[in-house]
Amino acid sequence: MALVNTKEMFQKAYDGGYAIGAFNINDMEIIQGIMGACADLKAPVILQVSSSARKYAHPAYLVKMVEAACKENPEIPVALHLDHGSSYELCKACIDDGFTSVMFDGSSKPYEENVEEARKVVEYAHKYNVTVEAELGQLAGVEDEVEVSDDNAQFTDPNEVQDFVTRTGVDSLAIAIGTSHGAYKFKPGQNPKLRLDILQEVANRLPGFPIVLHGASSVLPEYVQMVNQFGGKMPDAIGIPEEMLREAAKMAVCKINVDSDLRLAMTATVRKYFAENPSHFDPRQYLGVARDAIQSLVAHKINTVLGCEGKA
Ligand SMILES: [Zn+2]
Repeated sequence: MALVNTKEMFQKAYDGGYAIGAFNINDMEIIQGIMGACADLKAPVILQVSSSARKYAHPAYLVKMVEAACKENPEIPVALHLDHGSSYELCKACIDDGFTSVMFDGSSKPYEENVEEARKVVEYAHKYNVTVEAELGQLAGVEDEVEVSDDNAQFTDPNEVQDFVTRTGVDSLAIAIGTSHGAYKFKPGQNPKLRLDILQEVANRLPGFPIVLHGASSVLPEYVQMVNQFGGKMPDAIGIPEEMLREAAKMAVCKINVDSDLRLAMTATVRKYFAENPSHFDPRQYLGVARDAIQSLVAHKINTVLGCEGKA
């Protein structure tokens, strides 16, 4: 299957009470690990690229690798998505490169500016059958080049969503209900909580409209432990409990972003590999097990959080 936009994926996910996984990609092993799991479980998938991943790997490499992944797995619907596009120009560049979906993130801008710029992105994107995600409300944490402190983070105001979606014409909306970027989402002893009441309120205002959750890694304790056991130092890394995410996926949430969990699985596995095989120096050995770890992590997400097995 050629690349698709997110329209039909989200429609089916909304109606079926499940969500599509949006996994961040930087290199070949990550792409292959994600696609391996999705092919095994017949799951539709969104491969997403942040602006810093785009700089790291170069857009031409990423697009060609994703095209290869589609060719190798023709039965799986795949969307290639820009994560956190900070400007019209960046969104346009990705659309011109062949992305089938883009996020315009104007959430840190004044409301009217966010509306105006998102509307402009939509106008360009829809000409090329590309879907657009935008964001209202601000998540705390670090996302590549974007850092938002706890004090500046704010929940999405349900009173704004209808006006925003109508005026911009966006196809999906990322909201802030307590998730955050990075591996340190909660302090030890703090009760992790998602504001599903705000999600429900947003869903009431926008019936049938796909909602997106960013910063939704679970920071699986077994990987944190593995990192720390094999020479790493990530004390108190805590994520969003998976059962809360599954609850959100049954509601209006159609896209759940996962980045930190991929990084963590890969890093933990490579650390363990080096500790156990100090003489090895062939990158295929440690990147191979890292790719396997990505694959099993994505399979785990599909089963426990997303519920999209067999939906391809
Ligand atoms: Zn994000």
